[in-house]
Amino acid sequence: MFFNANITKDDFYQSKYDYYQKFLFWLIIVSCFGIVSYLVSDIQLFAQYAREHGIDGDFFDKRIIIPRCIGLVPMIAYIFISKKVRNYKIMVPLSYFMLLLVLGNTMWSVYYLPIKDHFAEGSIVMQILFMSAGFASPFLYATVANILFIVLICVTNPINHYPNFDILMSLNLPCTVGISAAHFFMEKLYVDHYLTAKKLEFYSIRDPLTNAFNRNIIAKLTTKDKHFNNTLQGDVGIIMFDIDFFKKVNDEYGHAGGDKILQFFSRLVKKCLKEGDYLIRWGGEEFVVLLQNRSIESTKAFAELIRKNVESSETGVCKITVSAGVSLYQGGNYQTSIDNADKAMYTAKTTGRNKVEVF
Ligand code: GH3
Ligand code: MG
Ligand code: MG
Repeated sequence: MFFNANITKDDFYQSKYDYYQKFLFWLIIVSCFGIVSYLVSDIQLFAQYAREHGIDGDFFDKRIIIPRCIGLVPMIAYIFISKKVRNYKIMVPLSYFMLLLVLGNTMWSVYYLPIKDHFAEGSIVMQILFMSAGFASPFLYATVANILFIVLICVTNPINHYPNFDILMSLNLPCTVGISAAHFFMEKLYVDHYLTAKKLEFYSIRDPLTNAFNRNIIAKLTTKDKHFNNTLQGDVGIIMFDIDFFKKVNDEYGHAGGDKILQFFSRLVKKCLKEGDYLIRWGGEEFVVLLQNRSIESTKAFAELIRKNVESSETGVCKITVSAGVSLYQGGNYQTSIDNADKAMYTAKTTGRNKVEVF
């Protein structure tokens, strides 16, 4: 219901995860260390129990160290995996698995505790962790995890015999319902944020008249951007096109006529591009084409094909021709290769127009 044709639910959930990824990562790490730190309160509880029962000397069930620390082992695996994998379908369930493990370890620790009354408070701390994880998660995943939370308490009750189980449930059930509702509304809010970000991204790299890209795409293609993983492969063929005598078109057919020619040219080139190639409106009536995995010869052939096509086409306004300069990018600075294509295009202009020159 929220999404237009170009944006899938998967894109949306991936973006939600990407946005809150760091937060989720630190939430898991802090949670794992958190249960270790509970050892301090465990020792106090054992001491209190010893005092109440008049037990002398060192009274502490050392077995509790195992459940309190065992979460640190999968935590190391989690750190490793989260550096390699960024698919939310793996990372979100894995994060909830880690939180359920922290919850399970807490229950295991409670088994050894002489006083189990404080589990209710502990469970509320766990609820806060589960709620926080929901920021990065699809509503459905979060709800399943919240239900597992309650199930785990019920399943371990016959072993742990939580004191005041009814109070424990009357605290946790409304919490779970409330948190699920919060997740639902958080997701709705994030949709707005996401669609605005997408719109901004779309217009920041696009020319509204021709729907070709604009210069900003170069920065996206040449710098690492985690939200934009398209990069150009191999040697990149570069063509600079410039429409011949375009000023005359404007003079004779008006700006609207000139605009129609620009749109016609953009449509014609786009029809000939392969996946991963780019048409960029460089300025006015100048266009740059980037063709990935090309030799200089095949780049020149492509430029020739476009030139001939333009020459023989009916634009709906008037006949036009284009001049083109070709260069090859083989690493280094993109701007230098584009400048080279521009120089070659200038040669085409000064030596008769309606032709292709190679730098
Ligand atoms: P040459 O063969 O040497 O390229 O001649 P030219 O007339 O094409 O040369 P020039 O680059 O000087 O002219 C470009 C013109 O393009 C000038 C400008 O008014 C026009 N122009 C720039 N942007 C637009 C636009 O968005 N729409 C229209 N209709 N005209 C534009
Ligand atoms: Mg020009
Ligand atoms: Mg021109």
